[in-house]
Amino acid sequence: MRMLTHNLGFPRIGAQRQLKKACEQYWAGSIGRAELFFAAKKIREENWLLQKEAGIGMIPCNDFSFYDQVLDMSLLLGAVPHRYTPVATDIKENAEIDLYFAMARGYQQHGLDITAMEMTKWFDTNYHYIVPEFTAAQQFRILSDKLFHEFNECKRVTETTPKPVLIGPVSYLLLGKEKQNGQEEKQFDKIDLLKQLLPVYIEVLKRLEEAGAVWVQLDEPFLVTDLTEKQQQAFQYAYKEIRKQCNLKILVATYFEGLQENINLAVNLPVCALHVDLVRAPQQIDDVLKAMPPKLSLSLGVVDGRNIWKNDFSKSLALIEKAVTAIGEDRVMLAPSCSLLHSPVDLDGETAIDAEIRNWMAFAKQKLDEVSALNQIKAGNKELLTINARAIESRRNSTRIHKKAVKQRVAEIKDADATRNSAFTVRQSIQQQRFNLPLFPTTTIGSFPQTEDIRQLRARLKKGDLSQQQYEAEIEEATINAIRVQEEIGLDVLVHGEFERNDMVEYFGEQLDGFLFTKNGWVQSYGSRCVKPPVIAGDVSRTSDMTVRWSCFAQAQTSKLMKGMLTGPVTILQWSFVRDDQPRWQTAFQIALAIRDEVNALEKAGIKVIQIDEPAIREGLPLRKKDGPAYLDWAVKAFRLSASGVQDETQIHTHMCYSEFNDIMEHIAKMDADVITIETSRSQMELLEAFARFKYPNEIGPGVYDIHSPRVPTVEEMMYLLEKAVALLPVKNLWVNPDCGLKTRRWTETIAALKNMVQAAQQAREKV
Ligand code: GLN
Ligand code: ZN
Repeated sequence: MRMLTHNLGFPRIGAQRQLKKACEQYWAGSIGRAELFFAAKKIREENWLLQKEAGIGMIPCNDFSFYDQVLDMSLLLGAVPHRYTPVATDIKENAEIDLYFAMARGYQQHGLDITAMEMTKWFDTNYHYIVPEFTAAQQFRILSDKLFHEFNECKRVTETTPKPVLIGPVSYLLLGKEKQNGQEEKQFDKIDLLKQLLPVYIEVLKRLEEAGAVWVQLDEPFLVTDLTEKQQQAFQYAYKEIRKQCNLKILVATYFEGLQENINLAVNLPVCALHVDLVRAPQQIDDVLKAMPPKLSLSLGVVDGRNIWKNDFSKSLALIEKAVTAIGEDRVMLAPSCSLLHSPVDLDGETAIDAEIRNWMAFAKQKLDEVSALNQIKAGNKELLTINARAIESRRNSTRIHKKAVKQRVAEIKDADATRNSAFTVRQSIQQQRFNLPLFPTTTIGSFPQTEDIRQLRARLKKGDLSQQQYEAEIEEATINAIRVQEEIGLDVLVHGEFERNDMVEYFGEQLDGFLFTKNGWVQSYGSRCVKPPVIAGDVSRTSDMTVRWSCFAQAQTSKLMKGMLTGPVTILQWSFVRDDQPRWQTAFQIALAIRDEVNALEKAGIKVIQIDEPAIREGLPLRKKDGPAYLDWAVKAFRLSASGVQDETQIHTHMCYSEFNDIMEHIAKMDADVITIETSRSQMELLEAFARFKYPNEIGPGVYDIHSPRVPTVEEMMYLLEKAVALLPVKNLWVNPDCGLKTRRWTETIAALKNMVQAAQQAREKV
């Protein structure tokens, strides 16, 4: 008797990013609907057959999506905001797909101009979903056939009974936002919509049953988060109603964390199986098993769906053994920890990665083989275990990745290493004397427009069409140009423009020891956008200067202050595939020490102002509130380690761009950067109130204009925001800057906007 294996979802972009290409061509009008659908169908077929071949017992369907699975749910359930009604009539054949893309991307055609739905991060991943919008009078109805179509298609292609994947009703509501006419509105609680929503869910499930489905997977990731009493009741109510009216076998899937105090709630839902994430929370196995009611099956998520490392079979088998002993083989299911959406597709093509290291890795396709292998080992195939043990052993001992000196240095970190020599007020007056900057000093966040010709330079260098020397000469020219532009505009603290960087993490990863890069390790970020995170495979160290050459070149071109630009340790960590054989903080500290050496080298080379970007600190926050402080403690320490090796007279900046500081204010202050620049314009400086309430002591540059839009803000608009800032914080602490880097903008709008910004700063100076 073998355990039932299944998969929670497979990446849908295609191993060669075929879906990205097809969608973008369709949007550009260069292919038609039939070709788009054909490309999608081929991806689905390939994925399904691949899973069948891997020996997966229950193959998921409806995990495919043209843009986002949450948006798919909104269309399935008819939660289409009113503003899209004209789109439906505008589209001649009333094509569902065009309405769908309009919701995802906005609609500007035939005199209509309708904004897209909001997008936000999917739990603690780098995947972004389309936020459902609910009104107080929200009605639901089945609007789309996609789910049923894909079920039938999968059944035909695989000759199996597939398992449709849906977002569960409670999580679907919790993912959404209460809105009225497109504006947020808290007049009602979205969870109260459950009454209207459930009959539609039940209708969906009944239709699946009629089509021949046996199992259905309902994703309820909110079960691993802090739940209010009312939300807990919603779970109980929803699943009781479903049970009453539908005979399908329901598997409730949880992932990204342990169930913790929600264990009893989860195991007592009247469903047939519960999926738990034993990669993120292996320790929950004992409590879950103890709480299991007699008939419930347990799906063990033992293969990491969020990372690229080979599974350690001995560890997984220990978990499987426990479950089998407690509840018997026929009630245990095996699966990856979460949907493989968050993994790259196929390791087989990564021939450039050193063979020894490649043997430690697994992408989506390989992960399914691992799930099958675990089942086979349990059934007696010991050879598979031996092969795995050899790979795990080689990784554990390899001198390629384990560097004594690096580990030693982290072990020897002292508190003093993470503390500047003097307190901020002392540093502030030293720096004031040294720099003699005016009130409301102006600066930018780092990057200037990365135009097509700059990106072409890198492509040509890679191809060999451009020598390193020619490439650098071109980059120098772009840098000089950016400096002249900034001087003419009259900015106070200049930047070199970051033209030499492809990406703010990759640029550093490529120069640090311990990183490696994949050819095709793409993961969907949102819609057709994919990211290819670097892999932190081993102990990280800095072998030579990384940015000194460019910062010094830039400083030599101007008598103004030139800000050195670095990416912070937490952001580098957060936007990479991180090794799983040591705690994250340890890897973060290794990176921090490498960045620290670079900061010190910049100082030594004469750079007086250095910015260490940390836009990703907040997104590393754990899903549970109570786990926040422990994470923030090491994250802040990592930043401080990188920043604290310099003299008082060197000014350290940091930059962050997100919209919530309230709950992390204390830690932001603990970072103790001399200057922090943040994104505030879209919230009309509301964000700054958190800093004011906290009496944030250090200098701060609240962004006075939104860089996401090509629109040139007026002097008055920026003055208005500056006045708000003046009302909230001491004038002597205020800087003037845009919200974020200008990489994605064009030169014309950039120059016009910065000119207005400098004028606004001048007016502000005259007013005080
Ligand atoms: N220095 C970076 C830039 O200007 C910061 C980018 C970011 O905050 N994401 O591009
Ligand atoms: Zn930013």
